[in-house]
Amino acid sequence: MRLNIVCIPGDGIGPEIVAEAKKVLHKVADKYGHEMVFKDILMGGASIDVHGVPLTDEAIAIAKAADAVLMGSIGGDTNTSPWYQLPPEKRPEAGLLKIRKALNLFANLRPAVLYEELAAACPLKEEISAAGFDILIMRELTGGLYFGERKTVEENGVRKAIDTLTYDENEIRRIAIKGFDIARKRKKKLTSVDKANVLDSSRLWRAVVNEVAKEYPDVKVEHMLVDNCAMQLVKDPAQFDVVLTENMFGDILSDEASMVTGSIGMLASASLNDTKFGLYEPSHGSAPDIAGKDLANPIATILSASMMLRYSFDLDQEADAIDAAVKKVLQDGYRTGDIMSEGCKKVGCKEMGSLITERI
Ligand code: NAD
Repeated sequence: MRLNIVCIPGDGIGPEIVAEAKKVLHKVADKYGHEMVFKDILMGGASIDVHGVPLTDEAIAIAKAADAVLMGSIGGDTNTSPWYQLPPEKRPEAGLLKIRKALNLFANLRPAVLYEELAAACPLKEEISAAGFDILIMRELTGGLYFGERKTVEENGVRKAIDTLTYDENEIRRIAIKGFDIARKRKKKLTSVDKANVLDSSRLWRAVVNEVAKEYPDVKVEHMLVDNCAMQLVKDPAQFDVVLTENMFGDILSDEASMVTGSIGMLASASLNDTKFGLYEPSHGSAPDIAGKDLANPIATILSASMMLRYSFDLDQEADAIDAAVKKVLQDGYRTGDIMSEGCKKVGCKEMGSLITERI
């Protein structure tokens, strides 16, 4: 298979972690007989330095022509970097918003996996973390409260702010379909999270999810109220497989789920549109404090590359090989500084990438 992949190394540790993910992908290509064509584009501070803007139209066109985009991370030290003296629309993060919009990425996927080997980093009680967990939070990214009409008015001398939460059935259906498709690739369980006891938008959400569910009789569906879900994530995270939810609930729950893993350098993510196209990136930022020192953990980016193979190319066997290699490296006791614990062998970013590559 020929895979056209655009890479955005970005800023800070971005170029270091993307280089390691490419190393792993090259090995996968060799082993499984694929041709991977990589093309880099600039985004964020790296693009500001060269072009004066965080993302050019040419870069967007190149990304659109690819099958998938693999990104490191963008941005600098927000206190000291001159990029943050620029107006908001010219700052590094504006590039990210622009590319998400241009590529119509409406589904955000954030896995929260607790590896047995890293259980000590989990802030939950041992009797809860002992079961481990592997959750995929799937968040609607382009609708809901963050994109609804908003205004602040003054009525009779009293200030009043209004935000509106709107979803139409098509927006719900397209992400529900993605959610069920992905649950089918996993443990075939989907928990749809809403606030249907209060909100009309949630009642429509639930109705549409139930309609879509009829097409997926092999996937077990349950509905959960968002307040209960927030509690269940810390009480019994092992019960979840795919958690499907709207924009604001997903924003909060995905951060909560990430935190209970305790390891920021391990968290991958993907944003998908209604084709197979996706943008894959670690959940963490550009870590300017450790950039250029070979200290970064490349695993979140390597796992993002695995998600890319699974969701954009349907190469499940190859993705499984990457996931297994990451697990093996952890079992063999290798750790970057951020996940280091007593008795393990500390390695840098490059060595971690090489150790994973060797195990493919
Ligand atoms: P951050 O995630 O970059 O760093 C937080 C802490 O975690 C730092 O101590 C950092 O060293 C550590 N860390 C993060 N990733 C690591 C890794 N792979 N290995 C080892 N340690 C790691 O968050 P921040 O410091 O708040 O933000 C820094 C910059 O990143 C800002 O400009 C911010 O806007 C940007 N940012 C970008 C994205 C993105 O590109 N999607 C996401 C979040 C933040």
